[in-house]
Amino acid sequence: MGGTFDPVHHGHLVAASEVQAWFGLDEVVFVPTGDPWQKSDRQVSAAEHRYLMTVVATASNPRFTVSRVDVDRAGPTYTIDTLRDLAAAMPDAELYFITGADALAEIFTWRDAAELFELANFVGCTRPGYTMDDATLAAIPADRVTMVEIPALAISSTDCRERTRRGEPVWYLVPDGVVQYIAKHDLYARS
Ligand code: ATP
Ligand code: MG
Repeated sequence: MGGTFDPVHHGHLVAASEVQAWFGLDEVVFVPTGDPWQKSDRQVSAAEHRYLMTVVATASNPRFTVSRVDVDRAGPTYTIDTLRDLAAAMPDAELYFITGADALAEIFTWRDAAELFELANFVGCTRPGYTMDDATLAAIPADRVTMVEIPALAISSTDCRERTRRGEPVWYLVPDGVVQYIAKHDLYARS
């Protein structure tokens, strides 16, 4: 599961847990982006903070791990590189790339889109406020994509950042350790 995770929240964790159970996956690898090219218009927290928050949030789940492949690769993060690196590291693994419906709807704007489907199965999780358009869904090879309905959580990292900036709570939107990490490092502070 790729993401900016700025910060990681319970929407990400529920999506990962549901897809793990649905497909009986051995492991869900969270892959925080390095420099996300779609978000070049806004300040993204340092990769190390986003990586560590993801580690904190996933530590208690034996099937969840966090990969540094995107954080450690120089330059903007493209999912094609993520999948190539993971496939090289785990040559026998069958890969599933977990996204929300909003991200999956944009997939044909991603670099080397056609090759993405050769490297992984794609799983689109329902997300409140977003619908996956049928034309995009139909353009993805049918045997390489599955839409999964997950319990709806209208949580976004953007809202978590704005709440923190306004001095409002993010308790129960993100794991407790992430609330504490944000406070400790004074992330998303009022500007
Ligand atoms: P931002 O508001 O900064 O874009 P975000 O909440 O969308 O943050 P991302 O890190 O951009 O989080 O998302 C990583 C992946 O998780 C994407 O594929 C996204 O669609 C999915 N996702 C995020 N939040 C949810 C949610 N509440 N329900 C389902 N999927 C989600
Ligand atoms: Mg997003």
